[in-house]
Amino acid sequence: LQSPSTWRIPDPLIGTTISHYELVEKLGEGGMGKVIKARDTRLSRFVAIKFLRVDAIRTSEQERDLVQEARIASSFHHPNIAHIYGLDQAETSQDSASGPTVCALPELMHFIVMEYVSGATLAEVISAKRIDLSDTMRWAIQISDALATAHKAHIVHGDLKPGNIMIDGDRVAKVLDFGLASLVETKPMADDAKQLVELTTQDVVIRGTPPYMSPEQVEGKKLTERSDIFSFGAVLYEMLSGRRAFLGESALAIMLAVLGKTPSPLSAVRPRLPASIVRIVSRCLQKNPELRYSSGAELHRDLAACQAGRAARETVIGAIIRHRRIVPAVACLIIVCAVAAGLVIGRRSKVNWARTDVLPEISRLIEREEFPRAFRLALKASEYIPNDPELAAVWSKLSFKIT
Ligand code: ATP
Ligand code: MG
Repeated sequence: LQSPSTWRIPDPLIGTTISHYELVEKLGEGGMGKVIKARDTRLSRFVAIKFLRVDAIRTSEQERDLVQEARIASSFHHPNIAHIYGLDQAETSQDSASGPTVCALPELMHFIVMEYVSGATLAEVISAKRIDLSDTMRWAIQISDALATAHKAHIVHGDLKPGNIMIDGDRVAKVLDFGLASLVETKPMADDAKQLVELTTQDVVIRGTPPYMSPEQVEGKKLTERSDIFSFGAVLYEMLSGRRAFLGESALAIMLAVLGKTPSPLSAVRPRLPASIVRIVSRCLQKNPELRYSSGAELHRDLAACQAGRAARETVIGAIIRHRRIVPAVACLIIVCAVAAGLVIGRRSKVNWARTDVLPEISRLIEREEFPRAFRLALKASEYIPNDPELAAVWSKLSFKIT
């Protein structure tokens, strides 16, 4: 999978070194700041570094929260979660003693170092082509497993969306930015429907990416695991249909759709989807959080059961299809065998008949001197037992009588 985000994007930081990280190429930019691919010269591996915008962390309280949350996010490992390696702080001004390779960072302060995932975001995969059902199920199960693990550690993603999920080179889904969405203040982009937005009203902060925000997130309420379940539902809907679940011309219109509209039925957008998958999506997208799955673990169980059902059905259907192909051949073989067996059995019974019935009858006819009838029967018997010694004896008697 070749991602457009891996194309080189010029950036003043590229080619510089920060701490022991050589900044190689810019991967992208979001609401929190920019992400740059870097080489960790100590461990000799690539990492992705998310530089947080300088205005993202304004108070020492926010900084303390960031350190605390980054510590939690880095404490758990899961094959479907891009690992957070740590949080660091960069020099904010040029230090002449540090040499020319150390970059002045007039605008950047904190950076999060994380696992570099080579591949494409799910958003790019969805827009490139329709994802087949088996990939959709596999990735949905992997993402829900990631949610299950994080939820168990009481970590809510808060910004689950196709742009925060990558499909790596081995076609494995990796969730990015786990636990980071709630950490920093994002750049207010109230009318950008694709980006993380932050709207601050008098007493609530609304933060998230409109098409994937849960209704309670739109209302600025405290986020729970069930909010991630709603976002997951919106992602799964999009994987299955290639279309967003909630549409609108502006961020506000989308948020209103999240609050009040039911997405177009999946069956209308992609017919012949298994009913069990449609049911899972609709349970995730319930407006009332209580009606959704309570956590990633419950969701994961349902998806795995649905996949097991599909696999079992496919095995049976596959067997029928395979049978369908070989049925004519097997039928022909059975007919040939039956005919051959019939012929063999028929011949064997004729041989028996000639020995047990015909030969004694011929002897009786010879005794009664009915030679023409005995002769005709002997001719018949020689069709089946031409080399029979008893028949040979009969022939000698008959030829004697006839001559
Ligand atoms: P948001 O701020 O809402 O998360 P976003 O996900 O679009 O928005 P970023 O998280 O800053 O923005 O990521 C920008 C891009 O950088 C992503 O779309 C992805 O292509 C790339 N990226 C982010 N993290 C990684 C990573 N760990 N490995 C490889 N590429 C990454
Ligand atoms: Mg992101």
